[in-house]
Amino acid sequence: MVLLKRKQIRSNLFCINNFTFVHRCYIQIPPANKSDLNSSHHILAFSSSRSGNSGYLETAVPVIKRFLDSKTTNIAFIPFASTDRNYKEYAIRVAEGLKDLSLYVNCALPENAKSIIEESHAIMIGGGNTFKLIHDLYELDLLDLIHKKVGNGTPYISWSAGSNILSPTIATTNDMPVIEPKSFKALNIFSFQTNPHYFNQKTEGFNGETRNQRLEEYLEINPAGKIIGLPEGTGLQLENQLLIFFGEGSGVLFERKEGNFIKTQIKPGDNLSFLLQSQNK
Ligand code: ASP
Repeated sequence: MVLLKRKQIRSNLFCINNFTFVHRCYIQIPPANKSDLNSSHHILAFSSSRSGNSGYLETAVPVIKRFLDSKTTNIAFIPFASTDRNYKEYAIRVAEGLKDLSLYVNCALPENAKSIIEESHAIMIGGGNTFKLIHDLYELDLLDLIHKKVGNGTPYISWSAGSNILSPTIATTNDMPVIEPKSFKALNIFSFQTNPHYFNQKTEGFNGETRNQRLEEYLEINPAGKIIGLPEGTGLQLENQLLIFFGEGSGVLFERKEGNFIKTQIKPGDNLSFLLQSQNK
């Protein structure tokens, strides 16, 4: 295998076939301490691709490095949250963001997504517009395939829209419904909702709904629901049925009890596995 020098990277981007973007990076990932990659879900769901003013995927890289096994090299990147449909450019940006990891980033395109996903060691789904993402996953008939593969132990890494679709539905996205999907139902791997880029702000003179108000609206209609607000720089890791909140800063668990909205602060390292109970029954 030829390792590319940085300057060579651009000219070697599409070297498997016309549809596949490959980026070989230099640094080997140390083996993670895990025994059975296929026994349960391995999920790394980031709120966002960047935290504050950090570079693209910069804060995610060390977390991904710890998360992935050294045998995981072949990543299926799913870019369908992009509304401009410039999927190869998107994949290039991702591969450049991940250049310090020893990974191949294979961009799934509408015409080859099934085989790219089937042959991958890990699935990575990026952000953009969540309605566009779920629309395309239904249209290309990829949702069941992803669900099955992830259920069989294939690691799943996501941010923003890619994290939204882990929930039962996409109902707590911040995005506008720019395209009508077949359904709002999503992967249902998490048995709760998330809200990425979570940030609650009320500016003087602004009369629209705050983020908290929008999430409360969801709970009014779905009183048994739970939502985790994921500020930028945070995320959720699910491994061996252990769900941990990680990152910089606190998240918020939104729920409704006895008709009242309850907001509970979540700190990095908190174990949220109790939220998986309904799914694990
Ligand atoms: N637009 C976001 C993203 O994918 C998703 C969201 O805010 O719900 O970056």
